[in-house]
This record gives sequence, structure tokens and C-alpha cells, in this order.
Amino acid sequence: MDGLKHADIGAWKYIEEQRHAYFDKMQVWDYTGLGYTRYNAKDVDQDILGCVVENKVLQSSQLSCFQESDLQKTIYPARLNSMDMLPSSSLTGLGEVPSTTDLFMRGRLAKLELSDGNNVYAKLVVGADGSKSRVRELAGIKTTGWNYSQNAIICTVEHSVENFTAWQRFLPNGPIALLPIGDKFSNIVWTMDPTEASDRKTMSEDDFIKAVNDALDYGYGPHPETTTSSPGGLSWLTGDVTISGKERFETPPKVVKLSSERMMFPLSLKHAKDYVSKRVALVGDSAHTVHPLAGQGVNLGFADASALSKAIAEGIALGTDIGETNLLKRYEAERKPANIAMMAVLDGIQKMYAVNFGPLNAFRAAAFHGAHYISPLKKRIISYASGDQSLPLFS
Ligand SMILES: Cc1cc2nc3c(=O)[nH]c(=O)nc-3n(C[C@H](O)[C@H](O)[C@H](O)COP(=O)(O)OP(=O)(O)OC[C@H]3O[C@@H](n4cnc5c(N)ncnc54)[C@H](O)[C@@H]3O)c2cc1C
Repeated sequence: MDGLKHADIGAWKYIEEQRHAYFDKMQVWDYTGLGYTRYNAKDVDQDILGCVVENKVLQSSQLSCFQESDLQKTIYPARLNSMDMLPSSSLTGLGEVPSTTDLFMRGRLAKLELSDGNNVYAKLVVGADGSKSRVRELAGIKTTGWNYSQNAIICTVEHSVENFTAWQRFLPNGPIALLPIGDKFSNIVWTMDPTEASDRKTMSEDDFIKAVNDALDYGYGPHPETTTSSPGGLSWLTGDVTISGKERFETPPKVVKLSSERMMFPLSLKHAKDYVSKRVALVGDSAHTVHPLAGQGVNLGFADASALSKAIAEGIALGTDIGETNLLKRYEAERKPANIAMMAVLDGIQKMYAVNFGPLNAFRAAAFHGAHYISPLKKRIISYASGDQSLPLFS
């Protein structure tokens, strides 16, 4: 991830006290058996490729970090009900130290009404309230997007051995990911059509485990063959790059037990037309909701937070009002193109896998081979997937 990291803000030590898992390998393949790609941290001279941290752990770590910081703060465990802003007017005729109400009346502060009856006044309201953002709605910011007609089932499962690899297999109705979360446990994110999702959510535990093991092994199609030399027909791709065929296809560890309830989420793509308006900035899913197939949602939100904090710091250094749209637009200008590029890539992959069509299957296989055998491309993909690099992959 560019810029802001959990370590930078002091939150990582709280994450390390809770459930998390580093992984050093990734394997992605598809049900046709035509292609696969495996990444190893060694390919980028690293010990690890990434770390799986559950959302509740991220949230509680950030809260602990904030609670224990020296910052002057008040935490309101309440929901935002409404938000008011008045047009700016001059400050003449006020005392030397204008009251909060005066500043609000002159359009210098936003007023937030909370569900616990408190009112909060702020120069800048940051909407980090998710894909159904109330801040976005109250600011009148419109969105574009569509539903994917896909639901994701997520749950925790147990294996009989430890898992240090992040696995993802593309199936006819969507990908299934098996992500290590420590010891013998992994999390499943399984995308499928809504009817299938309802069935899989309610079927018996034994049937669900069987379905998962099937989906990660021979269900829907054969294993890809491991090739150890340059794949035929791809010479136009290889040019002067290094060919390496060391990473053999492997089968994920079997699931032996379901360790949590199964939760189901509808999937959609949503993008705010504006990220900022007077005294408001949207970050994370309130500004953009993407398909979870590459696990990039959180990284995009962190990059937003980093860019916004940089714009605010610049504004403070210059003595500018940090709620001014002109200042906030700098943040939008930095993040919107990067987020749109990522949304386009993820939406393209989702659509490429939504069709079972011979020539397209061969094209997908070629893409897998390219990603597996061409070292510079492989390195860039790894670097991007682990959040160290921004798009584009080819520069
Ligand atoms: C099935 C699924 C799997 C995913 N897998 C991955 C993955 O593997 N990796 C990844 O990076 N991303 C993944 N994502 C995406 C990721 O969950 C989101 O990108 C991320 O949670 C967005 O963070 P956020 O803080 O912007 O919003 P959220 O996590 O939605 O947090 C918003 C917060 O705002 C609060 N809130 C909402 N309304 C109000 C209100 N009116 N007043 C006060 N508070 C309010 C909510 O309670 C919540 O705490 C997945 C998403 C789904 C649906």
C-alpha cells in the first residue's frame, strides 16, 4: 500500500495481538484446467506476500490505536442522523473569538446530529461509513454502478494441517478463495449466483464442506497440468523475459470442519460521482465499492485515507480552511483515476469469468500462462496484489 500503513499510524502492534496470518504463496487457477499461476514471496525477494486480517480485527486495532493516542479526541459511539451546512458569509461583526454557533451560522462549520442526541460541529466531515454511506446521501452526492447478480458466502473453516498459501479458483459462477488466518484455520470467500448462494448457506455442514472441497479440487473440471518450459504459442509474449517454471500446481489442504456461521453478501459495483463537496470528503467504500475477487477493497480505502491526510496537512501548513472544496479536490484528483482504473480491471476480470466460451477460455489460459511465466509481469502482479504498487501494471 502506498503511503499510509498500519505501522505508520501505530495500529499494527494491535493487529499482531489478534488473529492474523502471513502467507508466502498464492495460487490462482480456473475450472477449465487450461491455466494456473503460482506466486512465491521468493520471486520478489521477500519472506511474505501479504497478511490476512479480518475486518473486525482491523477496526478494533484502529480504534485501540486512536483511543490510546495523545490526540485530543471525543469518541461518540452513535450513528449519524443528519448533517446541516449553511452558505458561507463574512465573519465581520463577530467578537474576537466567535462561538461554534456563530461559525455554523456563517457557513464555517458543518453540524452533525447524532442518534444519541449530541450535536457535533466540524470544519470537515470524512464519510468513511461504507457502501451505503449516510454522509454521501446527506451531502447529495450521486453514485453510478450496478449489481453483479452474484452473492458471496463467507465463513471460517478448519483443516487438519496449517495453511500458508492464499488460494483462489475461478468456477463457472464466480471465484472461491481460501485465505489462511492462522493455525489450521482459513477464511472462505465464495462468489456464486444468488440461488446457489441461498442453497449453500442453508445446506447441512457436511454437504457444505463436501461442496467446498469439491470446488477447490476436481469439481467442475480437471487440475491444470504443470508445465516446466515456455508454453507453446506464447512466444509473442515472451520477448527478452525470463521463463521460469519452478512453481508446480498444488491442491489446497482439505477442509475438515466449518468453524463459523455462513454469511451472505450481495455484490455490486458503486462509484460516487464526486468524492468531495463543501466540508465533506468520502473515503473507502463510501466513495467506491468493488468486486472482492482480488481482495483490494481495503487497500483502496487506505490509499484514500493517505491521500486525504496529505491534502489536509498541506491545507493546515498553508493556513487554508480544510473544508474548502478547492483543497479537497486535490485529494479527489489523486485518488479518482487510480480507483476507476482498479474498478475497471476488477469488473473486466469479473466479466471475463462470467462467460464459458471456448476462445475466451483459451485467452484466459494465455493470461494465466503470461502471469505465471513472465518474470517481470509476475513481479509486478505480486507487488500490486500485496498493495506495494499502484496501477498501471505496465509502465
Ligand atoms: C464478501 C466480501 C468479501 C470481501 N473481501 C475482501 C478482501 O478479501 N479484502 C479486501 O481488501 N476487501 C474485501 N472486501 C471489501 C471490504 O470489506 C471493504 O472494502 C471495506 O470493508 C471497506 O471499508 P470501509 O471502512 O470503507 O467501510 P466499512 O467496512 O463498510 O465500514 C463502515 C463503517 O461505518 C459505520 N456506519 C455506517 N453508517 C453509519 C452511520 N449512519 N453512522 C455511524 N456509523 C455508520 C458502519 O457501522 C461501519 O463500521 C470484501 C467485501 C465483501 C462484501
